[in-house]
Amino acid sequence: MSNERALHVLNTVFGHPAFRGAQQDIVSHITDGGDALVLMPTGGGKSLCYQLPALLREGTALVVSPLIALMQDQVAALKQLGVRAAFLNSTLDGREINAVERALRDGELDLLYVAPERLMMPRMLDLLADTRVALFAIDEAHCVSQWGHDFRPEYMQLSVLHERFPAVPRIALTATADPQTRVEIIRQLALDEARVFVSSFDRPNIRYTIVDKQEARAQLLRFIREEHPNEAGIVYCLSRKKVDETAAWLATQDVQALPYHAGMDAAARANHQARFQREDGTVVVATIAFGMGIDKPDVRFVAHLDLPKSIEGYYQETGRAGRDGLAADAWMAYGLGDVVQQRRMIDQSEGSEAFRRVSLVKLEALLGLCETAGCRRVRLLDYFGETSTPCGNCDSCLEPPQTWDATEAARKALSCIYRTGQRFGAVHLIDVLRGRATERVSQWNHDKLNVFGIGSDLDEAAWRNVFRQLVALGYARPDHEAYGALRLTDASRPVLKGDERVEMRSVTPRKSKTAARRRAKASDTMPAADEELLAQLKAWRSVQASTQSVPAYVIFHDRTLAAIAAAQPEDLDALSEIAGIGAKKLERYGPALLDLLRGS
Ligand code: ADP
Ligand code: ZN
Repeated sequence: MSNERALHVLNTVFGHPAFRGAQQDIVSHITDGGDALVLMPTGGGKSLCYQLPALLREGTALVVSPLIALMQDQVAALKQLGVRAAFLNSTLDGREINAVERALRDGELDLLYVAPERLMMPRMLDLLADTRVALFAIDEAHCVSQWGHDFRPEYMQLSVLHERFPAVPRIALTATADPQTRVEIIRQLALDEARVFVSSFDRPNIRYTIVDKQEARAQLLRFIREEHPNEAGIVYCLSRKKVDETAAWLATQDVQALPYHAGMDAAARANHQARFQREDGTVVVATIAFGMGIDKPDVRFVAHLDLPKSIEGYYQETGRAGRDGLAADAWMAYGLGDVVQQRRMIDQSEGSEAFRRVSLVKLEALLGLCETAGCRRVRLLDYFGETSTPCGNCDSCLEPPQTWDATEAARKALSCIYRTGQRFGAVHLIDVLRGRATERVSQWNHDKLNVFGIGSDLDEAAWRNVFRQLVALGYARPDHEAYGALRLTDASRPVLKGDERVEMRSVTPRKSKTAARRRAKASDTMPAADEELLAQLKAWRSVQASTQSVPAYVIFHDRTLAAIAAAQPEDLDALSEIAGIGAKKLERYGPALLDLLRGS
């Protein structure tokens, strides 16, 4: 294949100036007829790996995808580029299906998206036998894995494609990183001959921040107001009740927030998802039920008000931010209560002993991430088997946390747990340490103990921090039979005896963040643009999007609008230089944009 030809199509049809990462190699391998397995993180640019070969090879590319909403948006986006694309799924009626099938037979489609169960229908396979098929793309290929949570039985039958169409190249794509899933995909889809392309799972444009939870809601609001006013984001909470309360509260604070959880009726849920996808600047407050099938590239932040269960979960959820490559935030507030809660859920789960053990190990890895004084990204990537160096774009790198010798404080705290009979939670223990003669303290005569008041040198927040880290580091554990009372562990003894030093991350007062710091180090920063012009362009885009019933980003990405506002091109030639404007969009929207820029 000629690389010039691929690059030419990339520039003119897709409007991208250059390939990203392994895209070029993958495109050329598939275009030349090879099979491939592509592992790339969410937002890495997987779609292009089959969309471009689809245009370079003769015939129609068949794209298997389990996600109906995503299929529709992808087809809408391709049509905007002037690509002949269609989909077949259960949302179409008989007549529409016939029309698509006719177009396929007549060779009028570059790409056809199909749900797996439809592709496997004998009628469809027969139709394909009479069609020139350019390639098969199997998206979300991890759905073949019986051990994953996205298992789709129909995916197991996709190896039929190889048997019936041995000459047609196949490309399987996934954002799931673990080696076991990889092996399973290769086996189930008979991809033994395929070349495997593994990209780094780093998402350099996402900034990771984990803050000490004080008043979570107020902290969240400050974060949204300071860093992401009027921008799209997702706030994850553990319970439905908390989702509803948080969304309602944010709405009273002028944040355009909508709740989403499995307890809502289907219509309201679909409505909130559609509004998030289509409107500018909507925040969805959700349980983890929200996310699968959301393909919104301009989510500017993902916030966690509660601790996820594992690093996998955290990475998948935060990965929904910044798919367009622009700066985005992954922000989490985390406190002792979270550790206690997650441990309780594991202790009280119905699962087997083995399941509980695995859950605990996963929780510990996540706590390690929360408590590390080192780079968060190094820790995350290490978990996925990649070695890296400090990233410069996480809270630890930007404001290195102080660590302090907490041995003395840890001894005091553990003694206090011991002296009070291992029957109390952190709130009461802190009262005792700080010498506060509350009713409860007096009632238990804890003001008579020798630990009473020995911790008056630290304030309450500092003590909360100490207890959280004691639990996270395994020096104490909450007892769920006793309402979360803290107990000593085997690891407590050496600390109590003075044989072990304890190092802790201290709570540093956060400096207010300057705009420069905010945008520093994003892999692909937004050009500085005339704000007013940008607002006008966005308003224009909204009108286009709603008249055509497509999401705003399908018309133009934020980044493209920002580039237009910054460059203020005066003619079509200059406009065509801007990334994100291919030939078709230039023809369709160019004149209107130039009018708008001229202020007429
Ligand atoms: P994935 O499916 O891997 O999550 P997508 O295919 O949706 O990712 O691509 C993510 C974003 O990156 C999209 O907005 C897409 O337009 C953009 N993109 C993909 N390839 C390029 C490229 N070579 N140059 C610029 N943007 C790209
Ligand atoms: Zn870092």
